[in-house]
Amino acid sequence: MSLMGPMGSMQPKWVPTRETRTAMSAPEPLLELRDVVKAYTSTAGADPMPVLRGVSFAVQAGETVAIVGPSGSGKSTLLNLIGALDTPSAGSVILAGRDLAGLPEAELARIRNCDLGFVFQLHHLLPQCTVQENVLVPTLAISTPDAGGERAARARQLLGRVGLTNRLDDLPGRLSGGERQRVAVVRALINRPKLLLADEPTGSLDQDTAASLVDLLVTLNRDEKVAVILVSHAPALAARMGRTLQLRNGKLEPLI
Ligand code: ADP
Repeated sequence: MSLMGPMGSMQPKWVPTRETRTAMSAPEPLLELRDVVKAYTSTAGADPMPVLRGVSFAVQAGETVAIVGPSGSGKSTLLNLIGALDTPSAGSVILAGRDLAGLPEAELARIRNCDLGFVFQLHHLLPQCTVQENVLVPTLAISTPDAGGERAARARQLLGRVGLTNRLDDLPGRLSGGERQRVAVVRALINRPKLLLADEPTGSLDQDTAASLVDLLVTLNRDEKVAVILVSHAPALAARMGRTLQLRNGKLEPLI
């Protein structure tokens, strides 16, 4: 193949534009949303009500992002779409280079269990299981054997990291609200997810306990190299993330 141009000089056949150069050098985002629309139909026959009206943003591996916005603005809706718990009416949710819309349910289930971690406002711990057993619940769906008890060892190590070493065999009912949420965070991290989705995880905690839970998320983000998307009402907590995006009128914009 000749590289000679029409003037006879050595010229490359293809010169990347600024856009393609940028695309080539930028790392592939961990998560990308492209023009995501979500509309709900509330009553039979009524027109669907759009909650998200074209949301686009990207999260890099290991990043921390807060999402804020008034109640009812669609924050949980957005997190449900990112978490493969719901599907957009239009647009794409792309996780680690793969459009979730093209994946079979079994793979979506694996992604929810292994690539993503979830923490909600309520801890959703199983009351009849101990702290350590609760943390190990997401490992039960993994078919590969647990070589050398590695999963239980990781559970103990993570629980130690969040200050619960001496509570491994307690039932959740014996823990404080903050301790239960710490167990929920550890459970979300047990399978080494790439992205932790936290939907108002401090919503039922007092101010000081809420602040230490967010401190914990920041520490675990650094130590476990897990990206975090935190939905929060509290500006002071949101400010602990690397950047804050605001959901308003169905659009997501940087909070200046
Ligand atoms: P936020 O988390 O910001 O408070 P949500 O995402 O929970 O907001 O809800 C956004 C809007 O979408 C609200 O008006 C809510 O009533 C509506 N909504 C949420 N889920 C559904 C659903 N499954 N069916 C119909 N409407 C819904």
